[in-house]
Amino acid sequence: MKKNVAKKPNLLLSIAQCKCSHCRQGDMFPHSAFNIAKFAQTNERCPVCNFKFEIEPGFFVGSMYIGYAISVALFTTVAVGINILSNIFGFETSVRMYVISIIVATILMIPFNFRYSRVLMLYWFGGESAKYDETAVLKAQD
Ligand SMILES: [Zn+2]
Repeated sequence: MKKNVAKKPNLLLSIAQCKCSHCRQGDMFPHSAFNIAKFAQTNERCPVCNFKFEIEPGFFVGSMYIGYAISVALFTTVAVGINILSNIFGFETSVRMYVISIIVATILMIPFNFRYSRVLMLYWFGGESAKYDETAVLKAQD
C-alpha cells in the first residue's frame, strides 16, 4: 500500500475545473474565464507538479479542431432552442433571428470554447506524459 498519495481526483471534475491532466490539482489558466482581457493566458507549466502544458511546439494548434466541434454543437443547440421556444410561445422566427442569436451566443462563449478546447486537447491527445500520475506532486516536491 502506497503512503503519502492523495486520493485520485475525478476526471470529469478535473476537466470541468481546467486542472492539470498530470496531477489534476494545478490550474491550467492563471485568470478567470470572465476576465475578458486575460482569459486566453495559459500557464506554461503546472503550478503544482511543474508539468509543461504545451507538450511540443504548436501542440494547442490542434485544439482549434476541438473548438470547431464545440462551436458546431453550440450553433445546433441555439438553433434547436429557438425552434422549440418559437413552438412553445408561438412567435415567428426568421433567418436573421437565428443568425444573430448564434453570433451572440458564439461571442459570449469564446472564453469557454477556447479553454475547454485546450483542456480537452491536453486530456485526449497529451499522450503518455500527460496522463494522470498519482505521484506527480511528490516528484515535483523532491
Ligand atoms: Zn500538475
